Amino acid sequence: MNADLKQALACIRDDVRASQAYPVASSAGMVKLDVMENPFRLPPELQAALGARLGAVAINRYPAERTQDLAAALARHAGMPSGCAITLGNGSDELISMLSMAISKPGAKILSPSPSFVMYELSARYQNLGFVGVPLRAVDFELDGPAMLAAIAEHQPALIYLSYPNNPTGNLWDAGVIAQIIEAAPGLVVMDEAYQPFAASDSMALLARYPQVLVMRTMSKFGLAGVRIGYLIGQAALIAEVDKLRPPFNISVLNAEAGLFALEHAEVYASQAATLRAERERVFEALQAMAGVEPFPSQGNMILARVEDAAATFAGMKARGVLIKNSSAAHPLLANCLRITIGTAEENQAMLAALKESLS
Ligand code: PMP
Repeated sequence: MNADLKQALACIRDDVRASQAYPVASSAGMVKLDVMENPFRLPPELQAALGARLGAVAINRYPAERTQDLAAALARHAGMPSGCAITLGNGSDELISMLSMAISKPGAKILSPSPSFVMYELSARYQNLGFVGVPLRAVDFELDGPAMLAAIAEHQPALIYLSYPNNPTGNLWDAGVIAQIIEAAPGLVVMDEAYQPFAASDSMALLARYPQVLVMRTMSKFGLAGVRIGYLIGQAALIAEVDKLRPPFNISVLNAEAGLFALEHAEVYASQAATLRAERERVFEALQAMAGVEPFPSQGNMILARVEDAAATFAGMKARGVLIKNSSAAHPLLANCLRITIGTAEENQAMLAALKESLS
């Protein structure tokens, strides 16, 4: 290796060099049910109208007012309470990074139930923060209230994430336990409502009661995963601090325009979400009826299911052209668990057929 390149690489943190990039599975030509995307595109006439809108955007300028228009439209869409403010991220992934940066004092810790969304831990690690994962209850993936409270008392986390519903388990947790956690928290509590379009949940009401709570949402699961827009709502004083860490112009003018267009057609997305919720129930029943499959109840657009040999079943489904996620390696509680995103009725039929054939 060239000596200069070697020297340059030596400047990169050892833990970064030892880590792997976030994996994105290749899916060309497959029934893609691996990362909780909305399978529906816009109807052709709306897709064409969006094209015309994007075609008129002045891409020679940095993003300006349209980003603020989008923030205001999202705040209205979410029912942001008075006294609160909103900031936008290039996906909620970027908001998670901003939050880690915001609390990055020596010794600071992030806590979340575990298993949960992997970026909480990754972003903690990349900011040299401690991460505490508190195991969920093995039987039903409910919060272990006493364990959560004990961990909060011991570690005094500056930031707690509650993925609500939880990725990858799909469930909502007991509201009483969540209230106890918030009341015990010595710092920020982020309710990550990425899957809110599919759930009977709305944490906005918590904002009035608890000033330390922030609600994070995304347009990804709504139907704009490719556009990359996440948003964070909380007390204006808190949001102002997090917003200082937002890379300037992080929302492209094209993304802002697409986000605004989608909100103008929110009823289309609401009806897609209703279809997916109904499909979720149908798929759940079909999985329950299948010998050797134990599905867990879900309020998201995915279902976690335990099989006898997840690696073999995953490989069998892949060979049959259906891509799901093998979650087994992510956490001991997820042994032999597959995470299946809900697709269109046809995709779900293909998935169920492939699953049945792939069970050993
Ligand atoms: N939060 C949760 C719980 C998620 O599962 C995901 C993505 N799978 C995200 C946040 C990030 O979403 P995005 O960056 O697309 O907004």
